[in-house]
Amino acid sequence: MHTDDEAPRPLRTDCPFAPIYPSQLVRDDAFFMALAYNQALEAWKHDEVPIGAVIALDGMVVAAAHNRVETARDATAHAEMLAITQAANAIDDWRLNRATLYVTKEPCPMCSGATVMARLGRVVYALPDPKMGCLGGAMALHELPQLNHRVQVTSGVMQDECRALLQAFFEIKRAEAKAQADREKLNDAL
Ligand code: ZN
Repeated sequence: MHTDDEAPRPLRTDCPFAPIYPSQLVRDDAFFMALAYNQALEAWKHDEVPIGAVIALDGMVVAAAHNRVETARDATAHAEMLAITQAANAIDDWRLNRATLYVTKEPCPMCSGATVMARLGRVVYALPDPKMGCLGGAMALHELPQLNHRVQVTSGVMQDECRALLQAFFEIKRAEAKAQADREKLNDAL
């Protein structure tokens, strides 16, 4: 057993995934989703649930953000919300009709609502969320017949990569929590 006096190591595990560098020549859905994926990796580096978002307009990135709920201590600091605000500032208009939001996981009720309120032209998400997703997963907010604005929705782009990232994060978090509990038990026994 390891019994020397060194300070306990932090239990946080570094993100084991590498960024993706897509070709700049083809600016398709996979290109922008790769950038959103890289934002998700940034979230992990800050010990946040790894979800990233990018907003593209005319082939250019006008916003890139990742989940910051823990850092900002703000339940509304989801990647999509931050990206929508950034994009509005970048183009000096809150109406994002001509823009596309790329996000690594299906938007929650709050963010799905924000995509409608911002009049986003299109939303592309990687991983569907049957529990909380509101763009087709748990429900389809964008299909409410009384809405004037229609958001086009595409799902499944880079789904496997984004699922693997989230699954690994939560597995590691569970393992870290268990290691911490074991350590506390050991300390109590000493
Ligand atoms: Zn959200």
